[in-house]
Amino acid sequence: MRLDKLLAHSGLGTRKEVKKLLKTKIVEVNEKTVTDPKTHVDPDTDKVTVGGEKLDYQEFVYFMMNKPQGVISATEDLMHETVLDLLEMQDSLQEPHPVGRLDIDTEGLLILTNDGKLTHRLLSPKHHVDKRYYAEIDGIVTEEDIVQFKEGVTLDDDYETLPADLEILSTDEEAGTSVIELVIREGKFHQVKRMIQAVGKEVTYLKRLEMGPIKLDDTLELGAYRELTSEEIDLLK
Ligand code: URA
Repeated sequence: MRLDKLLAHSGLGTRKEVKKLLKTKIVEVNEKTVTDPKTHVDPDTDKVTVGGEKLDYQEFVYFMMNKPQGVISATEDLMHETVLDLLEMQDSLQEPHPVGRLDIDTEGLLILTNDGKLTHRLLSPKHHVDKRYYAEIDGIVTEEDIVQFKEGVTLDDDYETLPADLEILSTDEEAGTSVIELVIREGKFHQVKRMIQAVGKEVTYLKRLEMGPIKLDDTLELGAYRELTSEEIDLLK
């Protein structure tokens, strides 16, 4: 990639500012002073220093977002705002993508990264990564439902789910509603909503709380995001 682009994407200013910086002869590539913004560099193998300091270019980025309703967890959409619009990294070289999907009306934890290997590991059906959801239900969730979820339920397309852990947090007999937490180990389309439908009830609100070892940071407002800490990234690897 061009040196001016790399410098700009490493937080050293706009392309114009970076050009000025290069003229001051403080940028070195592999120990040689470079002033031409068009110089080609490979951020993985070339050593780029600015004023003697090694450039802090991160190849991989990792974020958690508290996804709000009304936003699509895709990289592009013609009709709706996407989680990438919220992430405001359009100009970056890193190009993160959402790890899996949450429905447009689902809130909560969404991991975004450009680390394709990690995405594959988290989403691969072989790996059975736990996902914990909080859900509000129209209908009263029963002890029998807990047993049935433990055994696996049959969805509308005859798919038999893996065992899931269902916990009833509260029930309002009068209103005919329950609040639950559910841990599933796979990620079929609309899985939580369809599992609840399979026992004759309906999800009225859904929020993801955890994905594998990562827990939604409850200080994040809806639509807000932050980088994963190095501890969190280590837990994922
Ligand atoms: N299950 C669903 O039904 N919807 C989601 O967004 C996530 C899991």
